[in-house]
Amino acid sequence: MQLSPSSLQNAFRAAVAFRGSIGLPRTFPTYLLPSTRLIHTARSNFPYTTDISDTPFATLQHGRTRSALPRFSSLEAERVYRKEHLAIAFRILHRYGLAEGLAGHCSVRDSIEPDTFWVNPQGKSFARMRQSNLIQCRVEDGDIMNGDLHLPVSAAATSIHSQMYKAAGRGKDDGVESVVHVHSPYTKAFSSLNRTLDMISQDACAFYEQQALVPFAGGVLDNQEGARIASLIGPHHKVAILQNHGLLSVGRLSIDEAVWWQMGFEMCAKAQILADSALRVDEKFIFAEENNILATREELGKPEFGWFSLAPYVEEEEWRSKGEHKL
Ligand SMILES: [Zn+2]
Repeated sequence: MQLSPSSLQNAFRAAVAFRGSIGLPRTFPTYLLPSTRLIHTARSNFPYTTDISDTPFATLQHGRTRSALPRFSSLEAERVYRKEHLAIAFRILHRYGLAEGLAGHCSVRDSIEPDTFWVNPQGKSFARMRQSNLIQCRVEDGDIMNGDLHLPVSAAATSIHSQMYKAAGRGKDDGVESVVHVHSPYTKAFSSLNRTLDMISQDACAFYEQQALVPFAGGVLDNQEGARIASLIGPHHKVAILQNHGLLSVGRLSIDEAVWWQMGFEMCAKAQILADSALRVDEKFIFAEENNILATREELGKPEFGWFSLAPYVEEEEWRSKGEHKL
């Protein structure tokens, strides 16, 4: 018989209580403690752990468990995860009003062949995206390699994304594992103002000094322009405000993270525009103080927190689309 971690925990607690009831110390040698590292994996692959030492959320969450980053038994399993989360990301972006016409392309680096990435075909509805619709392209030059080769990919997508992956490489702190770009309404309006977000909300603090401004130079159709954008976003920014255009966000760890920065920025741009329009001539904004901004960015602005921030949206979309994105 195989005992689940929770039943082992219950047995352990009963044994401790019994020792206390007969006057023995309520302690056991540590080797008798049950192993409870991973106790649950949600359907949408947002796992939990009881091992506080093995989570980036040790101080950010309370209770008996913490959220844990997913682990994979193979690179093949990681590829499936990445492609499924990319496919559902399009559905989320559509549901929350961030998709517009033909605009928008999102990609994730391949786990087996990291010198390639998966991206959406142009003209495919974000609302109906499946993992089998994704197209694999080469990092070096954006050339199409695999997937449904009858479908075209936006030239802007292959040029921007390939050059982003190429310039950044891999690595937890400054590598790029995913790229998201859409034309969302508040961000598009904000992109014309020639400035970055003010630190007027807790959520804005996640973007403090991590917003690059990229001047508009017409539509992006070649790798040279893609390389220019990649050089401006650099290793220290999580978003690039493409002026008179939209937003580009990057994930250092996951596709979920880049999607969240895109959605989070849109909500911050909306709050910024609302606050700007509500400000009276004799009033001033209350700006967050720098020590509080930095502490907040350290919590809310981490790649791991960006990844986990998308969890409620992934759960909702899995429920709505009944897992169709996995086809
Ligand atoms: Zn665009």
